Amino acid sequence: MTGWLKDRVAIVTGAADGIGAAVARRYLAEGAAGVVAVDRDAARLQALQRSDAGRLVAVVGDVRDHDTHARATEQALERFGRLDVLVANAGVFDFRRPLRGYDAASLAATMDELFAINLRGYLYAAMAAREALAAAGGSIIFTASVASYHAGGGGILYTMGKHAVVGMVRQLALELAPRVRVNGVGPGGTLTGLAGTESLGHAQRRIVGDAAQFHERVGAAVPLGFAQSPEHHTGLYVLLASAENAPAVTGEIFMSDGGVGARSI
Ligand code: NAD
Repeated sequence: MTGWLKDRVAIVTGAADGIGAAVARRYLAEGAAGVVAVDRDAARLQALQRSDAGRLVAVVGDVRDHDTHARATEQALERFGRLDVLVANAGVFDFRRPLRGYDAASLAATMDELFAINLRGYLYAAMAAREALAAAGGSIIFTASVASYHAGGGGILYTMGKHAVVGMVRQLALELAPRVRVNGVGPGGTLTGLAGTESLGHAQRRIVGDAAQFHERVGAAVPLGFAQSPEHHTGLYVLLASAENAPAVTGEIFMSDGGVGARSI
């Protein structure tokens, strides 16, 4: 698979680190003409941008604001003249907090924050990019999760939110057809710096504390026996973005989780 995205232009949210950064780099390796990288982490975003200043454009902003996405679409059109792919990916985790771990106020605050980032951030991205994507006959890829179909990968709010991504993919696949395909990729436990919410005081906490322990725990839990790295998922993002190689694929979530769904118990 090389050159599958030749001359294509993409927006990737949450591109400063983890899965988003790996997708941005892979899209460039596949020949993309430009990638607009969106994130609130200005320092990391600028470091990524310096790696290919000609083809990477950085948009610093919060995905909870529509303006961030409007600027990203504007940049794609101004700098590269088109927009073929939107990868909506920026997200935060709830560190598996169960319902009993909240009171009324902390539930409301965390729900508002987590859903605003993990869900409204995705919808705003789609809303801002929709017309440009339709003009190009493009596609949207949402980062779902093993928590989109199974319990226990997150707590109540993260799992609810990732299940909702399945509904978002299916509904938007219908609404945006026939000009725009809409799909998802569902990673399993992946070695990244995924952080938590400010409302729970987890903005600096990372999903992966000790990498070796994470590897061991996820490896023991999944049939393929290893925790994934961001690069393990990027081939699916390329395939789904490619109008030539996946022209009839829409409304689907492709899991990349080491085989969690293959188990009966
Ligand atoms: P990550 O923290 O490495 O990347 C997420 C990026 O999103 C970061 O650069 C962060 O700064 C950015 N971001 C977070 N909130 C933002 C906001 N409000 N505005 C702008 N940018 C914001 O984590 P990751 O693991 O690469 O996560 C990417 C996606 O993958 C998320 O949707 C996550 O839920 C999903 N996911 C991760 C795992 C895992 O095990 N790491 C598993 C399944 C799904």
